[in-house]
Amino acid sequence: MPKRIVIVGGVAAGMSAATRARRLDEHASITVLEKGGYVSFANCGLPYYLCGRIVGRDKLLVTTPERLRQRFNLDVRVGHEVTRIDRAARVVHGIDLSGGKPFSLPYDKLVIAVGASAIVPDIPNVRAPNVFVLRSMEDTFAIENYLRQHQPRRVAIVGAGFIGLEMVEAMRQIDLDVTVIEKAPQVMPPLDPEMAAPVEKELRAHAVTLLTGTGLAALDAADGKVTHVRTEDGRQIAADMVLLSIGVRPNTKLAVDAGLAIGPAGGIAVDEYQRTSDPDIYAAGDAVEVVHGVTKQKMRIPLAGPANRQGRIAGEHAVTGVSQRAPAVLGTSIVKVFGLSVGMTGLSESAARRAALNAQTAHITGGSHAGYYPGAKPMQIKLVYEQPTGRVLGAQIVGGDGVDKRIDVIATAIHFGGTLDDLASLDLAYAPQFSSARDPVHIAAFAAQNQLRGLTHAISPMEIENELLVDVRTPGECQGGKLPGAINIPLDELRARMGELDRNKRITVYCQAGLRGYIAQRILQQHGFADVRNIKGGYSLAANLPPIRGLSAGPSPADKT
Ligand code: FAD
Repeated sequence: MPKRIVIVGGVAAGMSAATRARRLDEHASITVLEKGGYVSFANCGLPYYLCGRIVGRDKLLVTTPERLRQRFNLDVRVGHEVTRIDRAARVVHGIDLSGGKPFSLPYDKLVIAVGASAIVPDIPNVRAPNVFVLRSMEDTFAIENYLRQHQPRRVAIVGAGFIGLEMVEAMRQIDLDVTVIEKAPQVMPPLDPEMAAPVEKELRAHAVTLLTGTGLAALDAADGKVTHVRTEDGRQIAADMVLLSIGVRPNTKLAVDAGLAIGPAGGIAVDEYQRTSDPDIYAAGDAVEVVHGVTKQKMRIPLAGPANRQGRIAGEHAVTGVSQRAPAVLGTSIVKVFGLSVGMTGLSESAARRAALNAQTAHITGGSHAGYYPGAKPMQIKLVYEQPTGRVLGAQIVGGDGVDKRIDVIATAIHFGGTLDDLASLDLAYAPQFSSARDPVHIAAFAAQNQLRGLTHAISPMEIENELLVDVRTPGECQGGKLPGAINIPLDELRARMGELDRNKRITVYCQAGLRGYIAQRILQQHGFADVRNIKGGYSLAANLPPIRGLSAGPSPADKT
C-alpha cells in the first residue's frame, strides 16, 4: 500500500515538501491541497509585477498543477481549503471552493504548510475596495485591477518593513505619490537606527513622504471608499488607495483546532525534523517557529529561504523517516530600496542587548570593489560581535553593489559559529572588478579585532561628552559640516601639529568614516597621549544619528574614509 502524503498549502514550504517527497518515494500518493487559485508562485516577485518590471502573470508562476502532475506525479488541487484535521481518524476535511462541496482525504503523513496572513487591524472601513494587502496572487491582481480601472494618484502605505518598502519603490515607479506611515521611530525596524537612516534618506530623495513614529489610527471613507488615512499623531493623509503592510501572523488555526502544540513565539511548535507534537503531522514555513541561530531562542522568521528548506526536510522525513536536522535560522535577508541594497543577518545591536549578550559593534565604510577600478560604490557595514570571545553575532550592510555577497559571507561565518579572527582570515575571491584585496568584510573584522584587542578605543557618536574633538579630515571636507566645537587638524599634518593639543585632556578624533580617525588615534597614543578615542563610523555615522551636541549635519562626501 503506497504511503499517503497530504500537504496543506502549495507554495514555498508545501511545494518543496511535495517535490522532495516524490524524488525520494516514486510510489507514494502525494496530494497538495491549496485554497488559492495558484501553487508555486513567486510571492517575492509580486511587487515587481505590479510596477511592470516583471511582465506577464505567467512569469510569477514557477510551475503549474499540470506540470507538477506530469513531472512529479503530484495530485495538486487548487481551490481546496482544509478546514479540519481529524487526528484520530487521520483524515483532513475541507471544502472545494469551486463548487462549495465538502471533501475528506485520509493521510498517513500530513504536512501543514499554510504560511502566514497579513495583519489587518480591526478598524472601520478596512474592508473598503481601495484598501489592500499583498500576500497572494489574488491580492496582486486586485491591486493591479484597481490601478488600471481607477488610476489612483496617491497611495498610503502603512508599515515600512520589507514588503512595504518594496511596494513604495514599485508605486513610485508607476508615478504614484507615496506616503509611508510607520509606527516605529524608523523604517525597517529590525535595523539599528543609524543603519535605517540612509534608507530614509534614499526614500526622501525619491520624493516619498515619510511619517515615522506614528501609527494608523483610522481610515476615513466617503461613498464606500477610503479617502484619508488618519495617523495617531492627528495627521490626515489624503489617499486614493491604501496598502497595509504591518506584518504577518502565522496561520495556526488548523493546528490549534487539532490540538497541536503552539510554541512560545506563537507559531506551530516543531522538532528538528519539522514534526509537530503529533509525529504523523509535520509543519513548515511561515506558520512554524524556528530556533534562532545566535540566541537559540524560539522565534518566528517568515522568510522564503527557511520555508523552502523546512519544507524539503518535512517532505523527506515524511516519506523516509530520516533527514538532516533543520538548521537554526539567522534571519538573513536583503531588500532593495531604490538605489540602496540593505542586508542583515543574525542579531542587530539592539537585539543582542535585548538578549543580554555582551555585544560590541564596529562600523566601517568599504567599497563594492577596488576604488581605482571605475564604478565602485560605498557600503556601510555594521558588525555586531560578542566580548570577549569575538564571536560574530550579526551584521547590517547598506550600500549599492555587493551588499548581497558580503551579507552572505558573514551569515556563513555566523552559521559556523565564526569569530572575528575567522572573518578576518577568510580567503575571499578578489579581482578589481569584484572586490579589494582586503574585502569590506575583512576590514569590518579588522576594525572589530582592533577594538577587541584594545588597539583602539572606538566610541559611538552618542558617547561624545565634553572632550576635545579633533576632526582629522581635510578642510574641504569640513566645509560640508563638522561636529560643533571640533578643531580641524588634517591627518597628514597631525605629527607636525600635535603640540597644539593638550596631552592631559581626553581627546576624541574623527574622520569621515572611521579609518583616518583610527590612524590618528594610533599616532597620538604612540606619542604619549593617554586618553584618545575615535568615533566609529566617523562623521558620516554621526550625521545619521539624532543631533549630538548640536551637530549640524551638512552635505559631505560619503565615500571617503
Ligand atoms: P506561503 O508561501 O504563504 O504559502 C502558504 C499557502 O498555504 C498559501 O498559498 C495559502 O493559500 C495556503 N493555505 C493557507 N491555509 C490553507 C488551508 N486551510 N487550506 C489550503 N491551503 C491553505 N521572503 C524572502 O525571503 N525574500 C523576499 O524577498 C520576500 N519577498 C516577499 C514579498 C512579498 C510580497 C511577500 C508576500 C512575501 C515575501 N517573502 C519574502 C516571504 C516569503 O514569500 C514567505 O516567507 C514564504 O512564501 C513562506 O512560505 P510558506 O509556504 O510558509 O507560505
